Amino acid sequence: MHIASRTQIFVGGAWQDPATTDSIDDVNPATEQVIATVPAGNAADIDAAVGAARTAATDWAATDPKQRAAILAAARDELKGRADEAAELIATELGAPIQLAQRLHVGLPLTVLDSFATLAGEFEFAEKIGNSVVRGEPVGVVGAITPWNYPLHQVVAKVAAALAAGCTVVLKPAEDTPLIAYLLAHVFQTAGLPDGVLNVVSGTGPVAGQALVEHPGIDMISFTGSTAVGQRIGAIAGGALKRVALELGGKSANVILPGADLAKAVKVGVGNAFLNGGQTCSAWTRMLVHASVYEQAVAMAGEAAAKYPTGDPFDAATRIGPLVADRQRTRVRHYIDIGAAEGARLITGGAQPPEGRDVGYFVRPTVFADVTPDMRIAQEEIFGPVLSIMRYRDEDDALEIANATEYGLAGGVWAADADTASAFAARMRAGQVDINGGAFNPVAPFGGFKSSGIGRELGRHGLAEFLQYQSQQF
Ligand code: NDP
Repeated sequence: MHIASRTQIFVGGAWQDPATTDSIDDVNPATEQVIATVPAGNAADIDAAVGAARTAATDWAATDPKQRAAILAAARDELKGRADEAAELIATELGAPIQLAQRLHVGLPLTVLDSFATLAGEFEFAEKIGNSVVRGEPVGVVGAITPWNYPLHQVVAKVAAALAAGCTVVLKPAEDTPLIAYLLAHVFQTAGLPDGVLNVVSGTGPVAGQALVEHPGIDMISFTGSTAVGQRIGAIAGGALKRVALELGGKSANVILPGADLAKAVKVGVGNAFLNGGQTCSAWTRMLVHASVYEQAVAMAGEAAAKYPTGDPFDAATRIGPLVADRQRTRVRHYIDIGAAEGARLITGGAQPPEGRDVGYFVRPTVFADVTPDMRIAQEEIFGPVLSIMRYRDEDDALEIANATEYGLAGGVWAADADTASAFAARMRAGQVDINGGAFNPVAPFGGFKSSGIGRELGRHGLAEFLQYQSQQF
């Protein structure tokens, strides 16, 4: 596909020349070639975008929610019409296998846009409580900062919810995957979104991102990314008493209880850990197996991992593309070395590049067994295709291990019956837990306990995140 460089930013409903003269290279991680450049927006560009969003805020907040719903539905239709182009772009700038790009990277945002189009029309923005009418008012101008791992979904989860709530937005997309955010800006422009309601400034985190967080014209920051940056943003937002929503890292446990369908639980668990090359915040990166079936599960996981070939994202046989960037490859290989040095048993994979993949940021899908809770590979977010299999003695031991990290984003529980799995899940400190392989629900709240974040995305809880309440007493 032809990919053009961008020289402008999207501010006040128009494509404008930025104040910055700096640019960012967008690199194809499969070829290591620069495919395009985009502006590296600076504080002046953020200031212009915040100004446009503030100008648009009062009118947008006052629109009939049904009108907001109609624009979100038009954006969904427009994105649907450009779905192939969007998937190819994501396969190129992120390195996601093309089928995954179509089904998940574009399919999920389409579903999410659809859900917020419906919600905007149906949401009860006012309710009666006793002698009060409680009105949900938009928070105001939202600064959205998003990561590269699901570059369209992470943006849509914030932008669609904020727009549905009646907020205006300044978006700073990840510098590794900026072009898909440009495509989304075009989608909303074509859908008839009023000028200034969505503004997009490409740039780096430390410059454009930080300027957005610090800008006094921003009422709320909605951030997805690493826990370290989330803590920093939370501290700055706290100092200015700005609202903040943080969707951060994870180290989720897939707990296979005695009596579960072991073959299914292991197969689905490996697939979950390796989804998107393991670059998924909610990935089940720790598999917890009872001692009595442990070696069986380890063998099954090794066999399952062999069915995840790495390769060209545009080859239909590829299930794992390159990691997004050289720094991520270095980081993941480093963790594989750490795992080996800590005494974990390497079942498959390893730190050396996959055979025949000297170009591109590829990492071997890797499975470690005999991982213990004190190991760094059991505690820290690796963000690559690395699965740790851990052994437990009994249910209490499994629960203790499952909860023994600083994170609490997601998890899975498998048991002989759903009630047993659900009772165990209720004791897990995690935001969403799949019972016996329950499907992802795009309208259920998504977000973390503990260091995995503050606040929720998706569905009505995600919309409510962008509201503040006024109660009027009668
Ligand atoms: P970051 O948290 O650094 O990046 C996420 C977003 O925050 C990007 O848009 C980034 O900008 C921006 N950002 C970075 N620094 C600042 C800042 N000081 N102020 C405001 N915004 C900022 O994640 P990385 O890309 O560096 O990934 C590192 C690790 O983080 C991964 O290995 C993984 O463990 C974790 N991660 C978790 C994600 C999740 O969904 N939970 C998603 C991505 C990463 P830019 O990148 O453009 O410079």
